[in-house]
Amino acid sequence: MDASINVTQNGTVVEEEESSSALIFLGTGCSSAVPNAMCLIKPSDPPCHVCFQSLSLAPELNPNYRCNTSLLIDYYQGDDKHNYILIDVGKTFREQVLRWFTFHKIPQVDAIILTHEHADAVLGLDDIRAVQPFSPINDIDPTSIYLTQYAMDSISMKFPYLVHKKLKEGQEVRRVAQLDWKIIEEDFAKPFFASGLKFVPLPVMHGEDYICLGFLFGEKCRVAYISDVSRFPSTTEYVISKNGTGQLDLLILDTLYKNGSHNTHFCFPQTLEAVKRLCPKRALLIGMTHEFDHHKDNEFLMEWSEREGIPVQLAHDGLRIPVDL
Ligand SMILES: [Zn+2]
Ligand SMILES: [Zn+2]
Repeated sequence: MDASINVTQNGTVVEEEESSSALIFLGTGCSSAVPNAMCLIKPSDPPCHVCFQSLSLAPELNPNYRCNTSLLIDYYQGDDKHNYILIDVGKTFREQVLRWFTFHKIPQVDAIILTHEHADAVLGLDDIRAVQPFSPINDIDPTSIYLTQYAMDSISMKFPYLVHKKLKEGQEVRRVAQLDWKIIEEDFAKPFFASGLKFVPLPVMHGEDYICLGFLFGEKCRVAYISDVSRFPSTTEYVISKNGTGQLDLLILDTLYKNGSHNTHFCFPQTLEAVKRLCPKRALLIGMTHEFDHHKDNEFLMEWSEREGIPVQLAHDGLRIPVDL
């Protein structure tokens, strides 16, 4: 394992790690999240083992309990200064805050980055006000939020009240999330800074008619986060592959179903093929449905990793990885 990355089991925080940066997996599940509601309200015979676990095991103790994909970067810049950068704010955002912000002692969100505008990446935006200081007249510093123009246009329709702030005559002030919208390009040659950390956009196909962004960040430890992908354009693949601009220290990559393929996401076979091609020092998988059984599939991946020489594991909600950015 790379010396600059140390895994803590099930998100256990060790004292000395608080003076380093870290990645916190707030969500590692698919858009409908896990457990799958249908498995519980209309059980199959035999019932789905992965989903039924949620009835007997608390979510924080259950690695098969998966909220929408989301990553929190705890960016430590010395002198006790932490900046918290949130990637995606999905349907399950509030639940993720209650569970993992408390557990990992996250006091605020300093910047937000959106991969795309699908429901599982943006529908929690209303709840951003819950992690902002209280002001009945919305008189607070807005949180910077980085997104493409395409996502901006979509969010203007989904959440007009978060975008258009001017009150009409006679309109009452209502407390809403205060956001400072910043447009980024779907172009790896146009990096941007969020809370002092540099991000390189990684355009990927999420279905052949849709571009989603992944992000490359970290100078000392190069991390790529790609939550929604069905195909890598060659230019993006070059930026994150060992045979291209250099080997990643950590690749965080989409995998939806265990078998077969899907039109808008990688499934397990394509994900493992991509990991082999890109050849990172290490990979963690996210975006899984209830088909994945955490411990069982990680055992399979241990064998795969030994065979292929690349450590790969399924991530789980709440996982915290110290990382030197
Ligand atoms: Zn299920
Ligand atoms: Zn999507």
